[in-house]
Amino acid sequence: MDSFDYVIVGGGAAGCVLASRLSEDPTVRVCLLEAGGEGRNWLVRVPFGMVLSVPTPLINWGFKTVPQKELNGRRLYQPRGRALGGSSAINAMIYTRGHPSDYDAWAAAGNRGWSWSEVLPYFKRTEANARWRDDYHGDDGPLPVGDAFTDNPMHAVFLDAAQQAGFPRTDDFNGARQEGVGVYQVTQRMGERWSAARAYLEPHVLRANLCVLTGARARRVLFEGRRAHAVEYRRGGRIHSVAARAEIIVCAGTFQSPQLLMLSGVGDGEALRRCGIAVVQHLPGVGENLQDHLDYTLIHRARSPHLIGFSPRGVAHLLRELVRYQRERRGMLATNVAEAGGFLKTDAALAKPDVQLHFCVAIVHNHGRTLRHLFHGYSLHVCVLRPASRGSVRLASADPEAAPAIDPAYLSEPRDLDVLVRGFRLARRILDAPAFAPYRRRELFTANVHSEEEIRAAIRARSETIYHPAGTCRMGDDRSAVVDAELRVRGVDGLRVVDASVMPTLIGGNTQAPTMMIAEKAADLLRRA
Ligand SMILES: Cc1cc2nc3c(=O)[nH]c(=O)nc-3n(C[C@H](O)[C@H](O)[C@H](O)COP(=O)(O)OP(=O)(O)OC[C@H]3O[C@@H](n4cnc5c(N)ncnc54)[C@H](O)[C@@H]3O)c2cc1C
Repeated sequence: MDSFDYVIVGGGAAGCVLASRLSEDPTVRVCLLEAGGEGRNWLVRVPFGMVLSVPTPLINWGFKTVPQKELNGRRLYQPRGRALGGSSAINAMIYTRGHPSDYDAWAAAGNRGWSWSEVLPYFKRTEANARWRDDYHGDDGPLPVGDAFTDNPMHAVFLDAAQQAGFPRTDDFNGARQEGVGVYQVTQRMGERWSAARAYLEPHVLRANLCVLTGARARRVLFEGRRAHAVEYRRGGRIHSVAARAEIIVCAGTFQSPQLLMLSGVGDGEALRRCGIAVVQHLPGVGENLQDHLDYTLIHRARSPHLIGFSPRGVAHLLRELVRYQRERRGMLATNVAEAGGFLKTDAALAKPDVQLHFCVAIVHNHGRTLRHLFHGYSLHVCVLRPASRGSVRLASADPEAAPAIDPAYLSEPRDLDVLVRGFRLARRILDAPAFAPYRRRELFTANVHSEEEIRAAIRARSETIYHPAGTCRMGDDRSAVVDAELRVRGVDGLRVVDASVMPTLIGGNTQAPTMMIAEKAADLLRRA
């Protein structure tokens, strides 16, 4: 059996950071196992590629939830990246971090070292911001962050409309004030996506002490007594094992990290025994505490060549933009679709924003999976930033290749629906503002939705994820926590979880940057161990 100092499972947003940082020391040997491929093709590099990679299984696990009781029994689509870079290879590239109070709440819950002032240096360490040079930003980290390369005039329309509707603007969602509307900064350089793999791994592929195995799907962690000592994986139709002298670090994401722990005998003892899995450690919190940003989208058909859509004029424009992109790396092909947005309060009395907006320069219905809605238009997403609902990830079967049973239990706490109703009204005020008048043609799905009851029904019928599941291997110091504040799995040795699943509570923003921050901090914790 091959052996390394560290074996990392999952080459996503967190796994790439860890593999890169740990292998900076040439005396340390690191092995990274990634189930997907290299993630180096145009589908990943050209931002517009997400129009194909999100709705299809090309480089995407394409999970589905179990039927959601409060959403009319619907099973919701849950895309997750399946390639080096993980979900950062298919995501919308928006760079936000959440609100400082999110991290202070983690620390106040007993997680020492995770307050805002303690995590800010790690955010800065990841970042190479092309515009901001101040106390909030880094300018020499591996991850390029900068303004959009699309020059889309629809940004100004959205910002004007929001101002007409009475909402403030902010220049920097990650600066002194998160609240307001603005244009998102993105993780791109020269109009190309910079996934976590491109930022952290690709510059170091020649490191002799770093072994990256793609197409390697971990099946379980193997224990010697209470110590995690090896990972069993399938690659090229054969089963292999790789041993870790120091530690095994699970970075398989919010759905698959708890799944891998459970397949390895770490989880609720009774549930594991029912699946025929020998229990290594009874840890009932594994897979619990699933949180996600539930989102509703208001959509208008509209006229403008700057809105993505399929029509003879639209295709002609796209072809011109393709040529422009080849020449300048700017324009429509550099789009992250959700180009502008904001963090707003649905009630002025609140201390911080409770909803996030994503303004898309396209009709985004059903994750772009419904071909009926490919005409030109714009969409305004609104999501609940700090949901009270808690769901779970459980084993659907003991087969390591089966998808887990994902139950976000959306809206199981009625107050989440109240926030979304207020968010719906807020988003509509913006879309109804005069700035949109020259473009607007027809409101889709919600033209006749006005009363409280109608809005509630619309939300139950059409809301979807905005792709930020977290919390299923919760960090904490209580009995149902899965990892401690140093991200060590409780009750066993030599095993950590480092990814979005360790967040005790979902932060109020997009989750890639926070996940990479977690991995940067974990690298320090591991180096000190
Ligand atoms: C469509 C979409 C849009 C998004 N938009 C944004 C955005 O604009 N901004 C933002 O900040 N966040 C966004 N996110 C969220 C963000 O990408 C994730 O929060 C982040 O990538 C989570 O990182 P992770 O390391 O926890 O998991 P991931 O990045 O998902 O990585 C997990 C990795 O583990 C691998 N893996 C899983 N199981 C195994 C196994 N058994 N063996 C080997 N490998 C395995 C997977 O293939 C994957 O590569 C979006 C996500 C999606 C899906």
